[in-house]
Amino acid sequence: MNYSCNVRAHALYSGILGAFLEPNDNDTNSSENNSIYNKTLRRAAIWLAQNNPYLHSLANNLSSERTHEPNNPFSRARHTNSNAPAVNPHDIVILNYNFLDEIHNEDFHYTRLMAGFVQKSDNLRLPISIYDPNLEPLLFPDLFTDDKEHFHDILNQLQSNNEMRIETYEKYIKQRLMNIDPRWRLHHYWPSWSYLQLEKLRYHQNMQCLLRQNSTYPINNEPLPSGRDLLQPSNYTSRNILNENIIIPVPSFVRTGNTYFHQKQLHLNAMLQKFRLPTLFITLSMAESRWTHLHDILCNSDNGDTLPTNRPFHCANYFVHRFQSLKNELYKKPDLTRFGDITNFFDKVEFQNRGAVHMHNCYWTTNTIEVMISTNVIRSTVPDPEHESELYAAVLANQIHTCDARCQGPAIPACKKRFPRPFSETTHYEENNSRYTYKCLSQADS
Ligand SMILES: [Zn+2]
Repeated sequence: MNYSCNVRAHALYSGILGAFLEPNDNDTNSSENNSIYNKTLRRAAIWLAQNNPYLHSLANNLSSERTHEPNNPFSRARHTNSNAPAVNPHDIVILNYNFLDEIHNEDFHYTRLMAGFVQKSDNLRLPISIYDPNLEPLLFPDLFTDDKEHFHDILNQLQSNNEMRIETYEKYIKQRLMNIDPRWRLHHYWPSWSYLQLEKLRYHQNMQCLLRQNSTYPINNEPLPSGRDLLQPSNYTSRNILNENIIIPVPSFVRTGNTYFHQKQLHLNAMLQKFRLPTLFITLSMAESRWTHLHDILCNSDNGDTLPTNRPFHCANYFVHRFQSLKNELYKKPDLTRFGDITNFFDKVEFQNRGAVHMHNCYWTTNTIEVMISTNVIRSTVPDPEHESELYAAVLANQIHTCDARCQGPAIPACKKRFPRPFSETTHYEENNSRYTYKCLSQADS
């Protein structure tokens, strides 16, 4: 099975040999001055062939070939087809069967990773790689019923028509999702599968870019770390694994990695340092089952399924539109909000398990907290049912805490969510208290 013959992983695990036996660029000249033809090096090569476990199995090969190619004591990697990923010309080819399972598990070239098997007959199963051009139609025969128009097929068509335009995978996914044919956006798995494939591709491209930069402009002329430098003992067995502190981590633009969220956290921390605490912290949740406009959109589009969970594409787009409208029509109009101007903001969008959006927003406004409390913009008392009937109805419907099993209430003096609240004449901040005390005048306010 050829799926673990990752030349880079093999080079990594045998890199120390590469450091000693790397031939010169002109190694095809059988010059006596050629460094690889040095007698000491030849003796080292013979010793390694006999004693090194990786090279031992190549010993026969070495002794028979050495007479033909004296400057090239070890086999070296060459790709026979041009589709294969770039290979370092000094990589040494090592047979794959001598490696332990754990080393194969470290295979880091995603095109070589195995996606699974194709069952050809009762006793013939063929391995198939993640980057196999037929993987997408194989996984989603319901979407690609005629095996046509999947990503690799479109690439092939463009190539055969000699078109210069190169379809990127990202554009392809977007075009499929927004297609007039709704099957892709309605599919329960294709969108998330495609997204993860895209992130793998981005990660791979980023790594290739870093490797290229490193080999072109070595920092302070230091060579890349050798295979030995990259290894560390495994926590689980006595074997060695890759040291993840040295190798390239998942870049922060890959959203499925922790670095993405870590970077955003640092971003917010920097804002807090610069602008101090935000004046407003707003939490927004979707009420997707009660939004009549969304219901109408779902009824009249695609398959008419009104269960929001089954329609993530339309629900997410609707939410984005609604949030943008809120910003444009309300937040940007200080005479309506009485926030003053919003000078800076940080919005965090979370998706709950049912697929609904949940947002936490920090806003820095020109009006201070004290001003907004004194002008009743920030308030914690129940609105007047006569003079503010609309607001009163909205607060009663959505903003009143009712104790249940989740807050282990009702309880005396308060449940886990701190209800009922203590009475207070004003909304104010007390030193050493982690939160504000809110104005609370009556039973209804508490
Ligand atoms: Zn409660």
